[in-house]
Amino acid sequence: MARRPRRVLPGLVVALVVAVGCAVGGVSEPGGQEPAPQRPGGPDSPGAGQTRADGTTSVEEFQQDVADAQAIAERYWAAQFQASGQRFRPIRRVIPYQRDGEVSCGGQPLPRNNAVYCSAGDFIAYDVNWSVGAFRQVGDAFVFYLLGHEYAHGIQTRLGIRYSYTIQQELQADCMAGAYLGDSVRSAALKLDDGDLEEFREGLLAVGDEPDQPWFAEGSHGTAEQRTEAFFRGYERSLAACDLT
Ligand SMILES: [Zn+2]
Repeated sequence: MARRPRRVLPGLVVALVVAVGCAVGGVSEPGGQEPAPQRPGGPDSPGAGQTRADGTTSVEEFQQDVADAQAIAERYWAAQFQASGQRFRPIRRVIPYQRDGEVSCGGQPLPRNNAVYCSAGDFIAYDVNWSVGAFRQVGDAFVFYLLGHEYAHGIQTRLGIRYSYTIQQELQADCMAGAYLGDSVRSAALKLDDGDLEEFREGLLAVGDEPDQPWFAEGSHGTAEQRTEAFFRGYERSLAACDLT
């Protein structure tokens, strides 16, 4: 994705990345906290060099992808806001963290193995070890998806969008992440490499709720099928498919 061709070793992509947590301190559940996802950074995680075919597993490459994804998201949303005559304020910061409680959102310490948009402070924060683990397992496309999804929560907040159920908020964020990525590919701001679309699918499969999770439960994000459908609806048909108005 982006500038360097990358591949994932087929068969090594495992569903250890669960539920991209989000929206702590505002969007979906003020004062609440979503369950932490399971842990690609755990002891069973493959280490560097074991996972991806092309050796692009370094933290430096991960950081570059995060920076690229943030920059492209900012440009994308600035253009969308401008087109509708609104001023755009980029999300203030993207903050990596490593330890439980190192970063707080609205007075609530953020747990490890998570990524969130914090509306109270208007920032995205992510556990860097967890995210690098997912990057190594799924591929660089996952980083662009993750940033796109959390960035979408910031856009929902700016637009005052607040659904009754978490799952609606989450599936819309997936659709918006898809639109940001699909439109960026169409405008040539982003170039996909072979395998990137497959990486999106694998990433979305991995972040789906467990089959026994009730759709109306607090913290529900949607099944793998629902999340994949929402993401690719946005990817293929842009924001018009995301019920933003
Ligand atoms: Zn979310």
